Amino acid sequence: MKLPVLVLSLLLLSLGLPLQRAEPADVVFKNGNVYTANNKTPKAQAIAVKADKIIFVGTNAAAQKFVGPNTRVVDLKGNTVLPGFTDAHQHLSGVGEREMTLNLEGTTSLDDLLAKVKARVDQAKPGEWVTGRGWIETHWQPPVFPTRWDLDKVSPNNPVILGRADGHGAVANSAALKLANVDKNTPNPFGGEISKDKQSGEPNGMLLDAAQGLVRRRVPPETKEDEERAVVLGAKRDVELGWTQIQDAGGDYGDVDIFKKLYAAGTIKLRIYKAVYGPGPQANRLLNEGTIVGEFGNRLTVRTIKVVSDGALGSRGAALLGPYSDAPDTSGFLTVKAEDLRPMLIDALKKGIQVETHAIGDRANRFILDEYETALKAVPVSERKVAEPRWRVEHAQIVNPADIPRFAKLGIIPSMQPSHAIGDLFFAPSRLGIPRLAGAYAWESFIKSGVMVPGGSDAPVERGEPMIEFYAAVARKDQKGFSAEGWHPEEAVTREQALKMFTIWPAYAAFEDKLRGTIEAGKLADLTILSADIMTIPELEILKTRCVMTVINGGIVHEAT
Ligand SMILES: [Zn+2]
Repeated sequence: MKLPVLVLSLLLLSLGLPLQRAEPADVVFKNGNVYTANNKTPKAQAIAVKADKIIFVGTNAAAQKFVGPNTRVVDLKGNTVLPGFTDAHQHLSGVGEREMTLNLEGTTSLDDLLAKVKARVDQAKPGEWVTGRGWIETHWQPPVFPTRWDLDKVSPNNPVILGRADGHGAVANSAALKLANVDKNTPNPFGGEISKDKQSGEPNGMLLDAAQGLVRRRVPPETKEDEERAVVLGAKRDVELGWTQIQDAGGDYGDVDIFKKLYAAGTIKLRIYKAVYGPGPQANRLLNEGTIVGEFGNRLTVRTIKVVSDGALGSRGAALLGPYSDAPDTSGFLTVKAEDLRPMLIDALKKGIQVETHAIGDRANRFILDEYETALKAVPVSERKVAEPRWRVEHAQIVNPADIPRFAKLGIIPSMQPSHAIGDLFFAPSRLGIPRLAGAYAWESFIKSGVMVPGGSDAPVERGEPMIEFYAAVARKDQKGFSAEGWHPEEAVTREQALKMFTIWPAYAAFEDKLRGTIEAGKLADLTILSADIMTIPELEILKTRCVMTVINGGIVHEAT
């Protein structure tokens, strides 16, 4: 008598006998130093994958039964395997554009900046715009913003606008200001500031937050081809660094159309969890049309509205509860009006739309917690499309200690970027004063309060490299190992926590914790494979660690040569 396979299997299982053969896998990864981020079985050697899913995690010996005649066996040679890393806050187009325009990352001084601009101006046609991004004056001597007059020296005729790395400020030269009709009589737009020379009252070229738009509007728009190329370049860089998903913190449906086109053509493999800006037409479209979830093999989801509630600390645009310690005449500014926000939050809860809000200063954080709380009270669970809406605060950078427990209480997720701390802590003590640094970049306090803290890079504001973020989270020192008074080393996290910050916690923040984020059978096969064991090596060696392989949906999308 021939028993059907299933019955036979059940019979063997019931007898406690091991199955000799399993359904063959498409790929078996073996000889790995696997960290699963799954508390039940934290370590393993081998992973079997069928189609896009993990079907087995365990020892090399046990994985052997998944090897059939057509199974690809990948020898990981002892390399370290982690659940596919997710960047919980990135600006994908911006990362690509940084590769395409004047990339000013790592500019060491004003002279260095001017030399880079001059080289570009020399190649430009008369009147052609020169745009760039990525400078930051923190380590310059002296650490002051460049001015229009500095830029005029190297570009008297071509209009120039150069974004500060944080995106919340830009410097424009006189030619650009003239084209935009910005002069000493131009009023500050809402949510922005035209920085003025103290003596003459003339604009000095620095434009903060919304004021950048006055000049940026004059820059010829990117072509569709440029926009697509930026996404392709950004996605390529991301998978090479080991990111398997990025959570794209803002943008519009034009981006969504580009992603769809590139996915359909198979040009990009990176997963994108996309937010669109609101309040406004983009948010309204999401509220009206509803979400896009898990299209293109669980690669594309659009279910989130991104709100921006203040500026950044470096440019003193972050909204603080008290004045800046180094500029007592200002306490920053909010960039969204409560009356615009409130109806949108209510609607979002009813329609099951996630909201994430940029909040840097302690006033912005308190403001958005208050607004979220009001909306959550106004719409009881029974009237919500998604009972647990997993709303997020992006950055949650300077939070009054009294507000930290409110996140857990309200179910709000603080989505934070470790590299911001190790860059900002050079100037944060002077902006805020030492006492206000309690509650700044407070990762460990947040985790202890009972929330998950998804980790991100905010690239192109920061470099956007997973190893820099992981290092910053566990070391809380700059890339040379330096820290100073007010850096609060006790807010560094353990390596196990850091692993979760870039894997299962961002998955939770995207409603994907059942789908991905750990290495376990049944989940999507996303893996980040590294040249060294970042769970044990000395801190500074984390920065030298390289991504040797990236796997998305079971497919190898990057392999270092
Ligand atoms: Zn951002």
